[in-house]
Amino acid sequence: MYYVVAHQPLFFENADWLSGYWIIRSLAPSQRGKRPLLLDVPHDIVELTQSENYIQESKRRTKNVKDIQIPERKVVPLSDNGICTMQKIVSEHEERVRKLLSKPFQIPIPGYQLSGRVLGLRLPGPRRPLHDPDEPNALIVYSPPELSEHDRLKVDPCKQLVHVVVDPILCNVLRPHQREGVKFMYECVTGKRIENAYGCIMADEMGLGKTLQCISLLWTLLKQGPEAKPLIEKAIIVAPSSLVKNWYNEINKWLNNMVNTLAIDGGKKADIDTQLIRFMKTYGRCVTPILIISYETFRLHAHVLHQDEVGLVLCDEGHRLKNSENQTYQSLMGLKAKRRVLLSGTPIQNDLLEYFSLVHFVNQGLLGTAQEFRRKYETPILRGQDAAATDAERIVAQERLSDLVSIVNKCLIRRTSALLSKYLPLKHELVVCIKMGELQTQLYKNFIQSDSIKRSMEENDNSKKTGSLSALAAITLLKKLCNHPDLIYDKIKEKADGFEKAASLLPPNYSTKELMPELSGKLMVLDCLLASIKTTTNDKIVLVSNYTQTLDLFEKLCHKRSYNYVRLDGTMTIKKRAKVVDNFNSDSSNDFIFMLSSKAGGCGLNLIGANRLVMFDPDWNPANDDQAMARVWRDGQKKPCFVYRFLSTGTIEEKIFQRQAHKKALSSTVVDQEDDVARHFTINDLRDLFKLEENTVSDTHAKFKCKRCINGIEVKGPLEQSDCNSDLSDWRHSHNPRHLPDIPLRQCWASGISFVFHHRSHEQVK
Ligand SMILES: [Zn+2]
Repeated sequence: MYYVVAHQPLFFENADWLSGYWIIRSLAPSQRGKRPLLLDVPHDIVELTQSENYIQESKRRTKNVKDIQIPERKVVPLSDNGICTMQKIVSEHEERVRKLLSKPFQIPIPGYQLSGRVLGLRLPGPRRPLHDPDEPNALIVYSPPELSEHDRLKVDPCKQLVHVVVDPILCNVLRPHQREGVKFMYECVTGKRIENAYGCIMADEMGLGKTLQCISLLWTLLKQGPEAKPLIEKAIIVAPSSLVKNWYNEINKWLNNMVNTLAIDGGKKADIDTQLIRFMKTYGRCVTPILIISYETFRLHAHVLHQDEVGLVLCDEGHRLKNSENQTYQSLMGLKAKRRVLLSGTPIQNDLLEYFSLVHFVNQGLLGTAQEFRRKYETPILRGQDAAATDAERIVAQERLSDLVSIVNKCLIRRTSALLSKYLPLKHELVVCIKMGELQTQLYKNFIQSDSIKRSMEENDNSKKTGSLSALAAITLLKKLCNHPDLIYDKIKEKADGFEKAASLLPPNYSTKELMPELSGKLMVLDCLLASIKTTTNDKIVLVSNYTQTLDLFEKLCHKRSYNYVRLDGTMTIKKRAKVVDNFNSDSSNDFIFMLSSKAGGCGLNLIGANRLVMFDPDWNPANDDQAMARVWRDGQKKPCFVYRFLSTGTIEEKIFQRQAHKKALSSTVVDQEDDVARHFTINDLRDLFKLEENTVSDTHAKFKCKRCINGIEVKGPLEQSDCNSDLSDWRHSHNPRHLPDIPLRQCWASGISFVFHHRSHEQVK
């Protein structure tokens, strides 16, 4: 006596054998046991026909239940002499079932077509792309190789490669340059552009939608691949703390909450570790495939994040990684992520080695080691850019530069905001040189000729650190003086270093209680400009300064003239900021002025309610100025924009501005591939920061030795294709108000303007 026992898997209760494929359905509880179970056929038969996976699955599950017997239905008792009869019955039954199953499957409704999709299960049929590549607006980032008819017959349809098509919900919002950007990045991270390199730098200028492009890339990789399965399982976005929430919101906005994201920025260490371990230890189809984390938190929890592989890492504000020595860089380098994308609007400051660090981060080894890079590229390029370089040195520099550019361009994409001109109104940029007031000039000269300054210059030369006044402190004092004497009044009173003899220059009744705009050239022009804008337009204006003390002056000015204003500085919480900004941008707001400290001015602020912006003082870092300007001239702006940069004529401010241009020149040679950036400034020029150029309308213009201007008249216009991204020598040069594009500025020329450089973002479309 023996028993044939058919084991019943625990989970899949019903299985149909159809055209060679198993389709397994699970039944509702009420259906269980009602339908005849095909698994009731003897075990060995089932095994013959099951797929390999299914056998394993089935074995695994039946292992635990092998002692369970279900006698009333499944056990067939056999007597010794009944074996033959029984074998016959079994084989007849088998025959019948096989016959049934060998019939082609037919759908009973004529004309009905299968969707090809089964819930929760991928059909092992021919592969298909997730989205239709033939849709009119489809963005195809990968196309399988073309096959001849003959090859097509030979290829197994289950192994055929498919198109990768960006999700239509994204395709339909991407602008042409963004489509190009997504495709570029896809090709980089799939190793198509450089063999064995899977990283790239997205260096588009601000306002071009880097975030949206990256979200499109992320979503495509998480959902698709040429083999009809996702290329990555999960991804990490690393961003500055202030942008973590922003990423979270942007992903939900563009992807309609279709994907779960985990955003972590600070919190209890143990909690974060738990969350991160859960993220790192899920595989396959992850419920939460995206982690957004701040740089600081990443560094603190790197030990967890280094444990496992991650499909893609995306670093926002990637210029934080410009130093390959720092901890953040090292901890990100340790991540097991083959595909790396670095986002940065400002990939290079003043140092090619920084640039190396960024490229090295995404594609390790592409530019050699740091030492190799320095020897081969940095040293010769810098030597050639010095105004004192020989012709031979320049030629070598040129060669190395184009060499470098051609390697790097395979994994770097950068478009300038000039592209935005198609969507944005005209922007005028005006660099306004303004004479200091009489008192300012005297205090300035007194300061730079003081013994303290002379001493500290000498000490700087001998690189002794005993000086009472550092060069940096002296620079700050001069910059403040350029804004208004009120800012250094305390120092004068204290007879601080450099101001020992300054008190006698002040008028006897000098007081900082009531603001006197007349004591500062720049403030006089600003006062006049604001009045003119207020009375001739309904525009709003953003005022930016490096110093909160200057913002205090602006507040006094607003009270004096009864202007409504709002002020944002570093101390405001992110939530409060958003509220203040929204309110300012709304049409119903009565605020005329938005004050911004350039330190707080950072990312994400959208001030399109204003279409004019004054940068009251220059910053050493051109990126900060660029960021400030991008607050108003950005998507959604409807009015023509005017961006004014104020500089005190002949002073340290002009020299800082010139140095900015120098940094920018280096940036644009590598990053923008402009071959002929004029080398206007020698390194020696930059050493004379403390000299006041008294007899000039613009020190910057004087240094150009401009051939287009004769006797204070611009006789020849700049190149036709130039715009405000061009070198200043290719801007319009105004020695008088006549041709200024801005009427309010024309009206305040007499308040002390000595010279204006101006240009527009693009040709006005008529
Ligand atoms: Zn000129």
